[in-house]
Amino acid sequence: MNYKLLTPGPLTTSETVKKAMMVDHCTWDNDYKVITQKIRKDLLELANASEENYTVVLMQGSGTFGVESVITSSVGKEDKLLICENGAYGKRMKDITEHAGINSVVYSEPFNMIPDAAKIDEILKNDPEITHVSMVHSETTSGILNDIESVAKVVKGHGKTFIVDAMSSFGGVVIDMDKLGADFMISSSNKCIQGVPGFSFIIARKDALKACEGKARSLSLDLYDQFKTMNIDGKWRFTSPTHVVLAFAQAIEELKAEGGIQKRYERYLNNNRTLIAKMEELGIKTYIDIDHQSPIITTYLYPEIHNYSFEEMYEYIKERGYAIYPGKVTEADTFRIGNIGEIYEEDMIKLAEIIKEFMEVKANEQ
Ligand SMILES: *Cc1c(COP(=O)(O)O)cnc(C)c1O
Repeated sequence: MNYKLLTPGPLTTSETVKKAMMVDHCTWDNDYKVITQKIRKDLLELANASEENYTVVLMQGSGTFGVESVITSSVGKEDKLLICENGAYGKRMKDITEHAGINSVVYSEPFNMIPDAAKIDEILKNDPEITHVSMVHSETTSGILNDIESVAKVVKGHGKTFIVDAMSSFGGVVIDMDKLGADFMISSSNKCIQGVPGFSFIIARKDALKACEGKARSLSLDLYDQFKTMNIDGKWRFTSPTHVVLAFAQAIEELKAEGGIQKRYERYLNNNRTLIAKMEELGIKTYIDIDHQSPIITTYLYPEIHNYSFEEMYEYIKERGYAIYPGKVTEADTFRIGNIGEIYEEDMIKLAEIIKEFMEVKANEQ
């Protein structure tokens, strides 16, 4: 049965994005290399990153491969990384450094609070050994949107390298790299650009990327080597996910046709706020307060109804055309609903009706 994904990626893609994959390409042919180069150029534009200061590197694998590539290629043996964390994806960065034997410290906030630029300023003042700072933009764990602008100011003010995991926000929230001045921004093919899973991409400041030369702990995730090969003429260093690349190129065209990132943001925000309002009417509350709620994915607290079961609700909704997402925060019983991908206001209205129906069914069981 076909159902729409209300998950933060893989997500529901358009027919035309799926159809773009019906072509087999060889990896060294010029037709294909041109597509890679076009994607790199388009991503720079979408990020408002000037060609003078920034470049784009594509990396095989899921989003985590991109984060691991940046951390293990940029944080050298003499360096120390400060990880600002308020969710599972921040914690995963710590895991990456432990696997690679990279010196790191963690600054944690509860999952419903954002990392605070003033606290980061203090930490940097007290620990001059720190050379790099990393943070997640949209913490998909909870749906909170972190303030990368204020943190970037502090980090760059201290002259440190700033790494941003913008996996679930880039393409759905406007990010201005020239203004932000971040050194590495990571996202992946299967989130707000609305492509299919298979690679991540890194928007890198050229000087910060150059500083990675010879530092990588891994061969296949060596960001600088990947760049060096790709920058010649668009040929990837090792076999690339050719069909995924074609789908991604099509997805970028569709993002432009929608009117760019600002327009997509408005659609996502409308989806998100429409559903939150409808859920509120049903007495279902969000975990994150509205000021910090991202337009991407929302964590909802379990409704207070007799015999509530997430599994039962999940199946009920799935049979009616939508897949929702289990919760991931640890201190509360929650579920999550993503609103990115080929998802529109009518889907949110339909979903709220299905949930309302489900709650009526449960009420009648009493
Ligand atoms: C999706 C996501 C990732 C990457 O996860 P993968 O499963 O490796 O694709 C990393 N960070 C955030 C914030 C994400 O939403």
